[in-house]
Amino acid sequence: MASQLRVYVPDHPLIKHWLGVARDASTPPILFKTAIAELGRWLTYEATRYWLPTIETKVQTPLAEAEATFIDPETAIAVVPILRAGLALLEGAQTLLPLASTYHLGFKRDEETLEPHCYLNRLPQTLKPNTHVLIVEPMLATGGTIIAALELLTERGADPNLIRIISVVAAPPALQKISAVYPSLQIYAAMIDESLNEKGYIVPGLGDAGDRAFGTES
Ligand code: URA
Repeated sequence: MASQLRVYVPDHPLIKHWLGVARDASTPPILFKTAIAELGRWLTYEATRYWLPTIETKVQTPLAEAEATFIDPETAIAVVPILRAGLALLEGAQTLLPLASTYHLGFKRDEETLEPHCYLNRLPQTLKPNTHVLIVEPMLATGGTIIAALELLTERGADPNLIRIISVVAAPPALQKISAVYPSLQIYAAMIDESLNEKGYIVPGLGDAGDRAFGTES
């Protein structure tokens, strides 16, 4: 059976709360960054539910032997933040996945063509077999950056079936592009917004997530 892109928008009051804080244009940068980090935490919690590999074993409690389930230490877990704004999502993701390897990818969009330019690539030449990859990218807008990131990952051996994407706001153009090339992917987002403006920004969206998280102006 052909696979189909799945986009989950978890129905959770904490996710809604922090999305509201992030959307509000009057939220100052430090609180905006906190909101994105909190969204990273809760969306990672949801995304890892049936994804983190586990092993079954037994432990001895002070009273008796008990069945126990642990995260499999042999399976490689990689978190890939897309700079800059992905750094804020990473903060939350790392609280749940402290032992994961972090491979930074930096992209800048050309403001005229909206094409992504990769200025930082810290991926290894080859990922270990069965590596579980969590990409953290707050804005899935035109889809150019995420497709470029997915290409870099799959060229290095990443299995699309084992990749999950954490995003704050996703828009249809990006979802359509991902679905066309990587239909087996799963995305966890706080919201799907309807449209993009002529500059490729999601509307209503969050504005420029990198500028808002780091208190800069483009
Ligand atoms: N990047 C952003 O930071 N915001 C958008 O709306 C789209 C891309």
